[in-house]
Amino acid sequence: MKNKDPLSLIEGLGKRYKDDISEKSFFGYPMAGLLAAEQKLSDKDTPSVAYFSMEYGIAPNIYLGFPDAKLAHPKTAHLQHDLFSNLRDIDYYVPLKVDKRPDLPIYSGGLGVLAGDTVKSSADLGVSMAAIGVLWHQGYFKQSLWFQYGQVPEPVEWNPDHFPGLVPLKTRVTIDLLNETVHLKLWKYYVYSRDKTHAIPLILLDANLPENTHKVSQLTAQLYRSDDVWLKILQRVVLGVGGMRALQALGYEVDCYHLNEGHAAFAFVETAQGKSEEEIKKLAQQFKYTCHTPVVAGHDRFDMDLAAQILPGPLMDILRRFAVEAHQPHAVNLTHLAMSVCSRVNAVSQKHGDVMRIQYTPFREKIQAITNGVHHPTWMTEPVAKLLEEFGKQIGPWRDDPLCLKNVEKLKDNARFREGLWAAHQENKTALCRVFGKWKFREDVLTVAWARRFAGYKRPNMLLHDLNRLLETAKGMGQLQIILAGKAHPNDRVGYGYINEILNRIDELEKHKDTLRVLMLDNYDTYWGKALAGSVDIWLNNPLPPFEASGTSGMKAIANGVLQLSTLDGWVVEAAKADIGMIFGYKPAEGEIGDEGHLRMDEDCERLHEALRTMGQWYAKAKSLGPKDPQNVWVDKMIHCLAQAGYFSTHRMVREYQSGIWALKSTAGKAKVNA
Ligand SMILES: *Cc1c(COP(=O)(O)O)cnc(C)c1O
Repeated sequence: MKNKDPLSLIEGLGKRYKDDISEKSFFGYPMAGLLAAEQKLSDKDTPSVAYFSMEYGIAPNIYLGFPDAKLAHPKTAHLQHDLFSNLRDIDYYVPLKVDKRPDLPIYSGGLGVLAGDTVKSSADLGVSMAAIGVLWHQGYFKQSLWFQYGQVPEPVEWNPDHFPGLVPLKTRVTIDLLNETVHLKLWKYYVYSRDKTHAIPLILLDANLPENTHKVSQLTAQLYRSDDVWLKILQRVVLGVGGMRALQALGYEVDCYHLNEGHAAFAFVETAQGKSEEEIKKLAQQFKYTCHTPVVAGHDRFDMDLAAQILPGPLMDILRRFAVEAHQPHAVNLTHLAMSVCSRVNAVSQKHGDVMRIQYTPFREKIQAITNGVHHPTWMTEPVAKLLEEFGKQIGPWRDDPLCLKNVEKLKDNARFREGLWAAHQENKTALCRVFGKWKFREDVLTVAWARRFAGYKRPNMLLHDLNRLLETAKGMGQLQIILAGKAHPNDRVGYGYINEILNRIDELEKHKDTLRVLMLDNYDTYWGKALAGSVDIWLNNPLPPFEASGTSGMKAIANGVLQLSTLDGWVVEAAKADIGMIFGYKPAEGEIGDEGHLRMDEDCERLHEALRTMGQWYAKAKSLGPKDPQNVWVDKMIHCLAQAGYFSTHRMVREYQSGIWALKSTAGKAKVNA
């Protein structure tokens, strides 16, 4: 079913969108790039990729959002946050209002942000790609923090009909299950390249239709609901099976299917059902898989009998053949499925590659390591970008070719650059402190942030683990400011426990508020990901090695010259030699994975404080010497950070995908020029 005019599929084109979509313009962006991209996707001779991911952090709230914000539901924006701090002159919680653009709330954390950054870099590099995801009507969840109770999750309120640039299609696809049918509506959101000459359609699947039973319509309500196995299996079926049918219904000619995590593995099951051995072998050549975690609980497993009560025979046949590990004959394991069928598999950092080859010995030959990155134009703050622009002659075209950022090393002795970098950082930090002005945050006090998912192996409470040590550290420096943020999965009791513990400890620190300001911010999202990682002095990353496969928030920080205080894990292993801050803590022996339940809090907390004190001394010296002084090691390290940021860009990562795992016949269009 070919569609010459992709716009004709939009529901309400001439009526609802008469002000937004014209021959020349799509919500204010050039129509030409969009049409050319659609043309390439339906052209057999242009090699194209379909990228499947359960979640996408596209982040139009911080980068290239469609200008028509008037349509947005005011509640989409989470304009208000609650802050819990040890400076409670008014109340436990004080609301914080920020001026935010609406966020597309279809992600939970790092995995989704990586997917969004991958699509954005692919767009910038001119890759012909269709991205497949799910329209989560209630998002992941909205986080409330209640003192002495912890995290309370609520549905995110947003209205897809009023999200700028998100358009519903008339196209429907259906999936017949054993006892019912799932009807899916398709939506499109175009992810434009930075220069707006190319676009990638993000196709979102939506079960919220009157044709569906109430239970089926709830499949696309909330991302990663895991309280019901039926939901858990079928959310993955919607993405994989529904996604493949959507590609077909839209007439896209795809050469390569990239599964971002095992969640998407049903895409293979759908295509392989009813095929011969020979055909399946050929098909497998087109499937590629990125594994994102060495943590066993992070992999999807379901009971085989339960799956057989829901899914039709031909799908079950494929699962029985490819998704079963010898030692667990009654479980469907989507990681095993993806690992065994996909022709190429990648880990997300070099270290994770080593770990994966130990964890999946039978597949070690096909495991490659392609280190994650971030979309640097999204995450670099304006003051830093402006400075790099000013030194463009010496640095080179870092926006298109971020590896040029290596050249900032050559500016290490340039007094003007050193001053400019310090000033850019201070501008960011001052803006952040102004946001937290009610909490008396000051731009001349050392500020540390820890913000990410509340998962056990990430050790969220490391900084507050020993309050006496923390107070000593703060007193030694005069003053210290700390910002914490992050969500725990609604079914993760351990994560909830951490949040509670942190709120209690912040409460205990009330009488020390003159030395130490600590605050915990609710609803961590991409807006705060950029605001915090780009503006604090020290970005803290303290996972238990080797369980952080990559981690990406630190990459956002180095793109802004923000120093790292980190354990040696994930991407940091590859950057540590470049002297980007301080590395501390436990290191497992070569070839050892160890126990993720043994968190080594006492010993690593001790090492953390030693490292933080040293950084405090550098910082004090930096303030007294000024940025120009060659003795100012802080500014040296800021420069090392920036110089590394180009490598840790999704531009480099996507180029490695192109040559290493997609292996398309020839790379299309601009991608070839840039490769
Ligand atoms: C970047 C980002 C993450 C990922 O952080 P990690 O360092 O990989 O844990 C999670 N959530 C948000 C909102 C982000 O912006």
